[in-house]
Amino acid sequence: MLSSTKKNNFLSMATHELRTPVTVIKGYHRILLDDRLGKLLPEQRKVLMESEENCNRLIKIINSLLNLSRIETGKLELVYEENDFSDNAREVTQSLKVNLDRKELSIVLSLETGIPKFKYDREKVTQVLTNLLENSIKYTPQGGRIYLLAEPYFWERRNPFNPGVADNKRTGKSSLGLMSQAPFNAVRVEVSDTGIGVSPQHRQEIFEEFTQVAAGQSNKSGLGLGLAIAKRIIEAHGGKIWVESQVNVGSKFVFLLPFSPMDSSL
Ligand code: ADP
Repeated sequence: MLSSTKKNNFLSMATHELRTPVTVIKGYHRILLDDRLGKLLPEQRKVLMESEENCNRLIKIINSLLNLSRIETGKLELVYEENDFSDNAREVTQSLKVNLDRKELSIVLSLETGIPKFKYDREKVTQVLTNLLENSIKYTPQGGRIYLLAEPYFWERRNPFNPGVADNKRTGKSSLGLMSQAPFNAVRVEVSDTGIGVSPQHRQEIFEEFTQVAAGQSNKSGLGLGLAIAKRIIEAHGGKIWVESQVNVGSKFVFLLPFSPMDSSL
């Protein structure tokens, strides 16, 4: 049995070693696809594009493993910079347009005004948003609908965590419709879909490493790492992530990202 340090070192070294040749292969694909070594026939282009797509999948898996090993060894460093969250969300959605179109899925973007610019690690949060949206695409049947909502939010973190209670506070209004005096201190993000859903007994489990629970999972690609990494990234920012769902109706992944993770008043 390998000790956990040895296992992490192995994971880190193996993924680094794998990344270099795959990146080189991807580079050669690009040279060919850009017709830099002669014009390609349509059939040749088709095969190469498929091959490039598989390289991209491999790179994604390698990056997930690399991220996991960084997290396990406490080397996940966040780069805090002031960012426009709505802009970020729009960009991620745009980057997934091809995947959405391929499955004839429509997306509804609802980005409320009033989310101020705040400091967070844009690359890592982009990874979380991409993972949640890619999962929605993966687990929603053809013709379904995906929603991405972001809104400013008052998060009363002194209370024991309870998403249901937190929900009342999301627009700054109490359940009686009275305006709360508390200023918004976080962004609340929902990625929901009309897909297969997650059963109650699996709602915690899916945030653990290497867990895949969806019915017919053997046909689905992935390592069961995306949500585990997403959870670590959100929690490293001082946030929270959870899922609400009804089997065969859909899933709603929600996360809260504080404007200031160091704010002691939270
Ligand atoms: P992967 O998608 O690579 O398997 P994730 O960690 O992203 O890994 O997800 C873990 C598991 O959670 C998935 O394998 C699937 O069983 C379940 N899951 C995630 N997102 C959804 C979703 N939107 N709808 C239904 N099930 C989901």
